[in-house]
Amino acid sequence: MTAAVQLGLELPAGEEDLSSRLYRLGLDPNVRVSLTDNGTTMVSFGDGWLRVHRGYSTAGDEVVGAIVRFARAKRGVGRSEARRLLLSYASVLPGRRARLRREATHPDDESYATRLTEAHAELNAQFFGGALKPMTIRVSRRMKRKLGHYSLASAEHPADIAIGRRHIRRDAWEDVIHTLLHEMVHQWQQEAGLRVAHDRAFRAKARAVGIDPRAVLRVPVRR
Ligand SMILES: [Zn+2]
Repeated sequence: MTAAVQLGLELPAGEEDLSSRLYRLGLDPNVRVSLTDNGTTMVSFGDGWLRVHRGYSTAGDEVVGAIVRFARAKRGVGRSEARRLLLSYASVLPGRRARLRREATHPDDESYATRLTEAHAELNAQFFGGALKPMTIRVSRRMKRKLGHYSLASAEHPADIAIGRRHIRRDAWEDVIHTLLHEMVHQWQQEAGLRVAHDRAFRAKARAVGIDPRAVLRVPVRR
């Protein structure tokens, strides 16, 4: 089985729907669609790829049509009008408003961020042969249940990794490093041109760097 077939089989049904709607509404068949989860990219277009946030799966044809217009109009008025419509839709998606902009590290959390950024460099050398791009790690106060998050590189932002402050404060440093490594495996996936997912490639790499290959990392309930 080829990698492409394998990944294709893993696409949930909802993803197929949004992609086919985009093509039905006039998206150039040569443009490839990638659906994203990360909180900062709602829609971006470049290098023959249209990246669309999954949240648009529930949007009506008017909004999905605006995504098509956004991709068609390379620049100018058509594009900014489509963009405005898309962003106004994004702001009404549940829980999305606060996540449109990337959260900066709080000044009081800078020492954590520095320590994590140093750890990223060390782990990169130790487990990835120094091949990953250097990165400044963010500390998030917004993450309540999530331990860490990898945001995909897009036309607007470089990739980045955020680690939850709550996780740092409550859990052992060893566990925090485990989370950082988990997000670094996602970084490796994107930089290697693989799908960023908890798939077979993820599990194999996770095992290779010595972390738990299970996908879901949540703050455990304290008894
Ligand atoms: Zn993950």
